[in-house]
Amino acid sequence: MKTEILKMLRETEDYISGQQICERLDVSRTAVWKVIRQLQDEGYQIEAVRNRGYRIVDIPDVMTREELESRMRTEWAGRNVFYYPETDSTNLRIRQLGDEGAPHGTLAVADMQTAGRGRRGRIWESPAGSSIYMSLLLRPDLLPGTAPALTLVMACSVAEGIMDCEDVKVQIKWPNDVIINGKKLVGILTEMSSQVDYIDHVVIGVGINVNMTGFPENIRETATSLRIETGHKVKRAPLIAAVMKRFEENYEIFLQTGDMSGLAEKYSRMLVNIGREVLVIGAKEPYKAYALGIDRDGELLVRREDGAEEKVYAGEVSVRGVYGYV
Ligand code: ATP
Repeated sequence: MKTEILKMLRETEDYISGQQICERLDVSRTAVWKVIRQLQDEGYQIEAVRNRGYRIVDIPDVMTREELESRMRTEWAGRNVFYYPETDSTNLRIRQLGDEGAPHGTLAVADMQTAGRGRRGRIWESPAGSSIYMSLLLRPDLLPGTAPALTLVMACSVAEGIMDCEDVKVQIKWPNDVIINGKKLVGILTEMSSQVDYIDHVVIGVGINVNMTGFPENIRETATSLRIETGHKVKRAPLIAAVMKRFEENYEIFLQTGDMSGLAEKYSRMLVNIGREVLVIGAKEPYKAYALGIDRDGELLVRREDGAEEKVYAGEVSVRGVYGYV
């Protein structure tokens, strides 16, 4: 009921009467009044005027299950939300929910992570009250080898979702970072639970630096936030909803072919590495190469200094600029 009332308040510019809410939801006036009080306690500024009703004046940066669910404009992505004021890692939460049978599209969101992770066991800085940490559960009917490309589908969706909400130009650093002005704004971590020939579930974790104003020493040079880049605070719930909307659309495109064919063009348009010298750091000795673009499996095609072309597999390596992070 709270989700519905929030939606109604947000969708009505003028006052909406208690009576109208009661009739639409078939609940008592007292029940409506109680929910309004709860919302006010959570920080929503709601005016209550005798004989006119309720009007929402200001929506602060609230993150609750109801706020998130009432924002979603999707069929399945992010429709079933689990919200945690604090958790170890949203990827761990979703993995557990996946094992327990949660449906495709279930989303875990946290205000803070105590064990936020990046690729290959690295740490993702996850302080409270300022950023987005979320993980999406997928149950794709695809072969396990296809899963790494889903990281690229998410990178594309996060980039588009951010640009839907804010007037900024973000880019993608292959395969999984979204960057702005050459600094890292978003990290994505995809994990999979599979058998040899089928995927049980995939977990895509996303960390977006939204309102952080500073970073620890070790990432100060390479990390940034939307607040630093735009100069203003950004509300998290609408941003999450925008990313889910884009992801749902892009995922449907991905499923049509089971690879990046339908998305490669727009992914490449946002790809910062394309046509640049990059440093491939990972499994083998680091080497310099020229980035040509991605193939339909989402691998990065590079030309080595001796002219040989090869594919770089996501998951194995980091790609850096020759002179720095990008
Ligand atoms: P790369 O090494 O190319 O940045 P990666 O994809 O291998 O990318 P991730 O797993 O995405 O790295 O992220 C982990 C790394 O990101 C950490 O090692 C750290 O350097 C950096 N990092 C950690 N927390 C944040 C944060 N909140 N914002 C930006 N960067 C962060």
